[in-house]
Amino acid sequence: MQKAKAYAATSATSQLALTEIKRRDVTERDVQIEILFCGVCHSDIHQVRNEWSAMPTVYPIVPGHEIVGRVTGVGAAVKKFKTGDIVGVGCMVDSDRTCPYCKAGEEQCCPKVVLTYNGVDKHLGGVTYGGYCTSIVVDEHFVLKVPSHLNLAGVAPLLCAGITTYSPMRRWNVGKGKKVGIVGLGGLGHMGVKLAHAMGAHVVVITSSPGKKEDALRLGADEVVISKDKAQMEKHRGSFDFILDTIPTDHDINAYLNLLRVDGDLTLVGAAPSPLSVSPFALIFGRHCLSGSMIGGVAQTQELLDFCGKHNITADVEVIPIQKVNEAYERTLKSDVKYRFSIDMSSLKAN
Ligand SMILES: [Zn+2]
Ligand SMILES: [Zn+2]
Repeated sequence: MQKAKAYAATSATSQLALTEIKRRDVTERDVQIEILFCGVCHSDIHQVRNEWSAMPTVYPIVPGHEIVGRVTGVGAAVKKFKTGDIVGVGCMVDSDRTCPYCKAGEEQCCPKVVLTYNGVDKHLGGVTYGGYCTSIVVDEHFVLKVPSHLNLAGVAPLLCAGITTYSPMRRWNVGKGKKVGIVGLGGLGHMGVKLAHAMGAHVVVITSSPGKKEDALRLGADEVVISKDKAQMEKHRGSFDFILDTIPTDHDINAYLNLLRVDGDLTLVGAAPSPLSVSPFALIFGRHCLSGSMIGGVAQTQELLDFCGKHNITADVEVIPIQKVNEAYERTLKSDVKYRFSIDMSSLKAN
């Protein structure tokens, strides 16, 4: 057993603070990773503050599931990695590997999936601890190869925000000749714009903030629609093949469903806590689909990282030392970040 420095919260109302946790010794198929960067995901904040009743938080919690690091050791049976490799770990660190979903490469749907933090730790007991830490030990199946020419601080958010937007776009065949709407331009939305643009689609950002227009175009949007402007929305009615809805709060989803063409799909990835009101007419006329999506499997996450390597895509990040993480949470809640915080974990080593 080894010790590692980490930032943890001890209750729903306490700030994240320096602590020490245990990491298991490397077993046969494990990869030991020195963490270089970890992104700050909105889910981290929800879990630290115990805001998801379906997934009660066990304290202390060490959040972080957008991990990039360097391999410092491997088990005897590890084939994919060697010491010195740059690797990533996303939202999951284990699953049963035997259920139909695991066999289909959709480990995120496995009933026994082990999340990177606040999951059941079958090795040490208690819960798993995430990436706000100097190191982590993960089964090689859940470790990803990172194209090392990319900016590593900006790679970290690909492991959650990136795959969350990439996976539904692949499922609904986003590509050349397709008109794609991205609703909301935050951490998820900005990744959606970059990825849809690289896939060759015609990308339209739909936002309530006229101030975001310039940035949307810089990120790769072909057009920007201001959702409060009824005339602009009407102009695009019935024209989208696919819409990615990233808004994490209550909103009128029917206004967006009406923008879809026949057989078009709207996928929700923003988790509004209260139910959304859906008009059956917005689905029936036009045979529209309304779906949801959650991260992606291991193979598809690797496909995303390779795609980003090829197209030179990373998230736009503000790099912070771990000592600023509590402040970063407050700023994330106010959408005061372009577009994701990435924690430089060397600041924790020095702590
Ligand atoms: Zn996340
Ligand atoms: Zn499974």
